[in-house]
Amino acid sequence: PRPTVGFIGLGSMGGGMTRNLQRAGFPLVVTDLRPESATELLAGGAVWADTAAQVAAASDLVITMLPTPRHVADAVSGPNGVLDGIRDGGTWIDMSTSVPEVADAVRAAAADRGLRILDAPVSGMSVGAANGMLQIFIGGDADDVARLRPVFEAMGDPERILHVGGHGAGYAVKLMINQLWFSHLVATAEVLAVGVKAGVDLGVLRDALVASPANSNFVEHDVLSILERGDYDEGFALALACKDLGLSVDLARAVNVPVELSGLVEQVFRRAKASYGDRAGEMTPFQLYEDLVG
Ligand code: NAD
Repeated sequence: PRPTVGFIGLGSMGGGMTRNLQRAGFPLVVTDLRPESATELLAGGAVWADTAAQVAAASDLVITMLPTPRHVADAVSGPNGVLDGIRDGGTWIDMSTSVPEVADAVRAAAADRGLRILDAPVSGMSVGAANGMLQIFIGGDADDVARLRPVFEAMGDPERILHVGGHGAGYAVKLMINQLWFSHLVATAEVLAVGVKAGVDLGVLRDALVASPANSNFVEHDVLSILERGDYDEGFALALACKDLGLSVDLARAVNVPVELSGLVEQVFRRAKASYGDRAGEMTPFQLYEDLVG
């Protein structure tokens, strides 16, 4: 039989991930601050628990998919958190985009309990979560990664479930992916704005970029969805994008690498958040440049 998976955080990402675990036959115990987020899962046979501790006590492994490091720390180390319920030798996988410090504190607090802890953040947006086609970047021990592979395969694209190193490596890879992608966004928005102001048709300019050495996945795919559909929201809130960029700059500072560009990109995103709000979509910084061009 499949192990019982405890899942904490049923938002844009966790909602789709749990539905795919359920489809793959994993019994689920779930919780979220918003009970209504579990309605569909409960109808499909999942069990509700009121606290993270109860989720952990009733499961063979626990997954967290929460917004920020602070939310993860609350759910794991806070009152009625995972640490209060998880059995000795139990497994906790954090799939949030976060930092290793939270898990380091858990390891220190539970040094004699034999917990198996992995970081396994994801890319692929809410659509990838819904389709079970996430990219998963795993930091942790190889034997744990091998043992848990069926769990990851229920949520991710088997070809892109990558064991990227020891504890914390998954978080670092994920933050660098988002940093580069958001840097592409700002760089692309700038050149499109200047090109259009210089009199070039927007679609022509975009097609020329695609045909050029300056092409990128961002220019080729994401720009189209913004321009054609006027859609700045693919299910990832600007507040979370700013969180990721802040963590990326923090990481650079911690490892003592100066990152001028990353810092600028973070500020552009924070300006967009100030202008359009926390809940606006992650592509909204584009709008800053569109507003400039008119
Ligand atoms: P979300 O805000 O949609 O969902 C988070 C859920 O966690 C909410 O339902 C909230 O009620 C719940 N929650 C918060 N604190 C809780 C607690 N202490 N106990 C129980 N539930 C709690 O966020 P999301 O978009 O699903 O993102 C989750 C994580 O995945 C973030 O770290 C994000 O950076 C990352 N991520 C998101 C995307 C995306 O496209 N949305 C893509 C890749 C990675």
